[in-house]
This record gives sequence, C-alpha cells and structure tokens, in this order.
Amino acid sequence: MNVHLPLPPGAQFILQRLCSLGHAAYVVGGCVRDCLLGRAPQDFDICTSALPEEMQAAFADCHVIETGLRHGTLTVMHDHIPYEVTTFRVDGEYTDHRHPDQVTFVRDVTADLARRDFTVNAMAYHPDTGVVDAFGGQEDLRLGVIRCVGEAEKRFEEDALRILRALRFASVYGFAIEEKTAAAAHALRHTLKDVAAERIRAEVTKLLCGSGASKILRAFRDVIFEVLPDLAPMADFPQHNPHHLHDVWEHTLLSIDAVPPVEALRWAMLLHDSGKPAAFFRDDAGVGHFYGHEKISSDIALKVMQAMKMDNATLERVTALVKHHDIPLDTTRKILLRRLNQFGAEMLHQLIDVQCADRIATGTRAPGQPEEEAALLHQALNDLLAQAPCYTLKTLAVDGRTLMAQGFPKGKIIGETLQYLLEKVIDGEAENTAESLLPLAMTRLAKEESSK
Ligand code: ATP
Ligand code: MG
Repeated sequence: MNVHLPLPPGAQFILQRLCSLGHAAYVVGGCVRDCLLGRAPQDFDICTSALPEEMQAAFADCHVIETGLRHGTLTVMHDHIPYEVTTFRVDGEYTDHRHPDQVTFVRDVTADLARRDFTVNAMAYHPDTGVVDAFGGQEDLRLGVIRCVGEAEKRFEEDALRILRALRFASVYGFAIEEKTAAAAHALRHTLKDVAAERIRAEVTKLLCGSGASKILRAFRDVIFEVLPDLAPMADFPQHNPHHLHDVWEHTLLSIDAVPPVEALRWAMLLHDSGKPAAFFRDDAGVGHFYGHEKISSDIALKVMQAMKMDNATLERVTALVKHHDIPLDTTRKILLRRLNQFGAEMLHQLIDVQCADRIATGTRAPGQPEEEAALLHQALNDLLAQAPCYTLKTLAVDGRTLMAQGFPKGKIIGETLQYLLEKVIDGEAENTAESLLPLAMTRLAKEESSK
C-alpha cells in the first residue's frame, strides 16, 4: 500500500532538489513515525545519498548552517525553518556507551536505517516511492510496540541513552516495550552512568509528560532508580495510614498521571513525597506519620534537579511546589490573597493541581471529589483575579516615597510599614486607597516612636 504523508514545503523542496541532481533522498525517523501515527512531527529530518560536499553544492544558493558537516549533517533553512539533511551513514564502534568512534558515509538508505534505535524510528519516506520500512516499523506502530532494530543488548551497549529513549517513546505513545528490548533495558541499566545529565533529564521529562508515565515507571523502576537513586527509598515503602491505600512509590506514580502533562507539575509529583521514608514514624496506635516530609522532599528535589542540570526557573518552581504541597488552601478571599502574595497566580493554580493529584492518588477519596474541590478553587481564584485585587506591594496605593512625604524617616520602618499596610488590605481591614492607608501608617509610626 502506498501511503501519502503530508510534507511541509521545505521538506518537499529539499527532496526535489536532491533528487533532481540524481541523489536519493527521504524524510526519515521521528517525522515518519509521527505522520504515520497521525501526530504532528516536531521537525522533519532528511537523509540522502549525497555526500557532504555534494549537499553543499546542491544548496549553494540557500541559507545553510554547516555545524554538523563532519558527521554528514547540513542544516538547510527554508522559510526560516531549519531542516537537518544528513548523508546516509553507518556508525563505527562505540567504546564509551555514547558516541560512535567514527562514522562512515554509505550510498544505501537501508544501511542508514539499520543504525537507528527502534523499528518505529527506522523508516524513511519519499512521496514517489512511499515508506521504506526494512525492519517492520509500520507493524510495530500497529502493535504499539517499541523494539530495537537488531539485537537489543548490542544496541543498548552502543548507546545507553537508548534505554531511556525506549522508556520515553513507550510512555509518550502509550506503547509496550517488546520483551527482549525490555530485558536488555533492565540488564544494561548500569551503563546509564556514562550518559550526560542533561540528556537523562530531557528523556525523563518527556517520559514523565507521556500518557503512559506511571505504567512505564512502575515496570522500569530499577532503570529510573539507576538515574535518580534518591527516589529508590520510596519503593514498597508502606504508609500505615488510613488516608493512604498505597505505598509511597505507587502513590507517587498515580499522582503523576493525575496532574496535567506539564514539566514542572510532573517533576513535582515525582518528587513530592521523596522525603517520606526519612520522615516516617509510627505513633502508639501504629499509625504512620510523616511530619515535615515536605521540607525533606524539597531538599531532595533540589539535589536531584541540580544533579540533572535542570534550568533555574523549573528547578525553583518544582522545589517550591514540593515544599508547599500540603499548604492549606480554601476559597476565602483572605486566604487566596495571602497565597497570591506568597506564590503569584500561576504557581497558585499549579499548587491547586498538585494538591488535587495528591488527593486522587491516596486511593481513599470519593471518585471525583478532589477534582470538584480543585475546580472550585480554580474558579474562586479566577473570579478574584478578575477583580484585579491588590496582593503585592507593587499595587499598594502608597509607596515609600508617599510615606517619606508624610514625614517618615528613612530606614527599615518604611518597608515594615508598607508590609503592615499590605496585610491590612489583604485581610480586608483597609481599602487600598491613600486616604484609607495613610492614617493607619501615621498611627503605626506614632506608636513605634512612643515605644522607643
Ligand atoms: P522527537 O519526537 O523527540 O524529535 P525523534 O525520533 O525525532 O523524536 P530525534 O532525537 O530527533 O528523535 O532523532 C531523530 C532520529 O534519529 C530518530 O528517529 C532515530 O531514527 C535517530 N536517533 C536519534 N537518537 C538516536 C540514538 N541515540 N540511537 C540511534 N538512533 C537515534
Ligand atoms: Mg526529531
């Protein structure tokens, strides 16, 4: 059957240009897989029989970037979109579990496809000839299976990152991992120590954001604990608590599935109870408690994310979400304004999602109840934000200059007074106007001065 896949104009142009010069050329890899799945590809990669200098000649009139030319890759810009065009190649020996020692250019597309990691990633496509599928990629897409091209152990020995890529693709597409591929992933998990932290983080993030995250993390916890050893104590750790049906790790997995697939939220759920094993104690009745585990968890989260070289914004957000995951929230104006002051609107919405997921994953709540509570909180927060309330010093009706004009001395009294006024406004005890706030400020100043 000759399938027709939708190609963007840039990919069509590059294929035509190369073919018109007598070279073979295909779109290849992830874009073929995603098109066949009916998903929008991230980008379109192209492979060709043209050697690097032949590619340069073919695109001499185009804007190109030559950074990967030694490995056979030329980036061709088309309408400001970059396309990676790579000469068919086979990889030499891998002695470091990471990079081939050298690459060799070849003239045959099948040899190029054979070096790729999984059957579903080892397909090429040209509109005139259809899909080149020498390793059963289409069949595995139908079966929903991630399977190594060739012998799984050998492929993972060459490049340990492929172990995490297998888990990632399975999670993202909701696929299973074929038996021998799975066995090799377990057996060779120790080789992941050679993989750069950034690459591990990128794969784990995608895994966490996949629809099959909990299933894969459950089945491959040994692999995950290899790259994130601080999580291992959660495995099979019983909670001995009537609010919890599951052990800490199982609770964690269920909570991951229960938050939206957003990087910071998924990482926060993965780490939110990582401090529970260290905080655990049983009272006289034998009930388990975890007082202070949020702080321990956030310390672990910080350590884990620093080791993973996580970007600062995500690192800060995740540690804050973990640290405050049990903070009391309700729909009253005063509480919401205090929390807005503490966290800002975006993080507060996320905290509501985190708490909702945490409750769903206890296994002891009435179905739908945590979701209903969360919907009410989101609604109350949005209603409140629509009124543009004051919850920061920035929007307070008086500032330091106003106070000094009223005779306030320079110094920390100004900051303290502004904070006091903000609390009055947040608690609904004063209106956010200069007329209402200045008398309060003056009274406070007089009290301060008389107590000296
Ligand atoms: P994504 O949707 O994340 O872009 P992708 O499959 O396109 O997924 P890329 O990292 O962009 O992944 O790689 C493009 C192609 O290169 C893959 O489809 C695969 O054929 C091949 N490939 C990438 N990484 C490896 C690897 N570590 N080992 C073998 N082949 C690889
Ligand atoms: Mg890609």
